[in-house]
Amino acid sequence: MPVGFIIKQDGSLTTLTIPSFTATSAVAHAFTTRHTGVSQAPFNSLNMDFKVGDDPQNVIANRDRVCGMLGVGLDRLVAADQVHGDQVLTVDLSHAGRGARSNGDALPGVDALVTAVPGLALSSYYADCVPLFFLDPFRRVVALAHAGWKGSVLRIGEKTVRHMVERHGCRLPNILAAVGPSIGPCCYEVDGAVMAQVEKCLPGEPQYTVQGRSGHWWLDLPQLNSRVLMQAGIKAENITLSGYCTACREDLFFSHRKQCGRTGRMASFIMLNGG
Ligand SMILES: [Zn+2]
Repeated sequence: MPVGFIIKQDGSLTTLTIPSFTATSAVAHAFTTRHTGVSQAPFNSLNMDFKVGDDPQNVIANRDRVCGMLGVGLDRLVAADQVHGDQVLTVDLSHAGRGARSNGDALPGVDALVTAVPGLALSSYYADCVPLFFLDPFRRVVALAHAGWKGSVLRIGEKTVRHMVERHGCRLPNILAAVGPSIGPCCYEVDGAVMAQVEKCLPGEPQYTVQGRSGHWWLDLPQLNSRVLMQAGIKAENITLSGYCTACREDLFFSHRKQCGRTGRMASFIMLNGG
């Protein structure tokens, strides 16, 4: 499995990109960092989400900045009101602008978005949860899925892949996937209730957890998700891991756990070219 998202500097804007996705020339895509936005502490400075208590005008300005770099207007952005569930939704031009300028009209109850429409930008929001990216460069279909521990053990990655195959005719060997920056096994301590769900998700595969202090474990969410993607039929060489822990790299990312809940959100974006 290749490891390493690439830091991309565009003017003063710093984002991360996925080498295998860039190589296809089929998409514009990004994972944002916390830098070079307009939000004030504790959302400093490129906070991308309305739901954290930031001034909505700052969020719009920050999103506008990243969308400008991607070459898309906010009226072509789509955002879901994420609920740590496993619902996957295909979106088209009728959804353009939903959740872009406020959370009020974000697509409710959805954690994964899929589209085959060029020029429509999918987005998803993070501060420690696992961002999953998908691209079939042959069928020209893209997807994003938000996988916190709940979405991860609900196998949202597998459900997104299945949706791409069943609804859009994607072929498993052609699908590229990426597991973005999230809290890593170095920093993510969970209790027995979470561990029980991990065991149900991947029975007989204890290698994604390490026993810590009594009743606690260190959980490797990025590896768990890549395992789920491989079980769904994605080739290991087609899965790119980011190589970043959001809690270790407070200098680069917002971390919900490290900053005790008072912080901003990064965003993942993907859009098929040619719209
Ligand atoms: Zn860490």
